[in-house]
Amino acid sequence: MSLEYRIGLGHDTHRLVEGRPLILAGIRIEHELGLLGHSDADIVLHCLADALLGAAGFGDIGEHFPDTDPACKDLDSTRLLADVVALVESRGWTLVNADIIVHAQVPKLLPYKAAMKSKVSQLLHASEDRINLKAKTGERVGPVGRREAMQAEAVVLIQRPI
Ligand code: MG
Repeated sequence: MSLEYRIGLGHDTHRLVEGRPLILAGIRIEHELGLLGHSDADIVLHCLADALLGAAGFGDIGEHFPDTDPACKDLDSTRLLADVVALVESRGWTLVNADIIVHAQVPKLLPYKAAMKSKVSQLLHASEDRINLKAKTGERVGPVGRREAMQAEAVVLIQRPI
């Protein structure tokens, strides 16, 4: 059986503010600041959704989940990503692997990485060995380093029978 492959890239940035929970990859992270956004501002799940949409040729999450749509207000991003996965799978695609980078000056994400990876693996219907998660600081420069924002990036590879 021959397979075709597509690669997709996703990126997301949200501002850090007081009075918001910090949710990364669907996991609540203990921190004094949280990410500001129309939805729950989960940068990890947003960049994964964009990477999958990109790989399958379906545009971006702004087109599918407009922030002007009241239905998307405080949207649980696990639902958003589940919808994107369903769309991509409906066209016969399955995930080969995903590689994710979270840029956060603080807090240390190491204690949460296993839970984050497990959640992503469930949402993407892929075994954990196909999911890689990296955390980087901002080296105290730029918006990430000054703790003004967090960013995340993901690349995904998808495949389907030709
Ligand atoms: Mg976002």
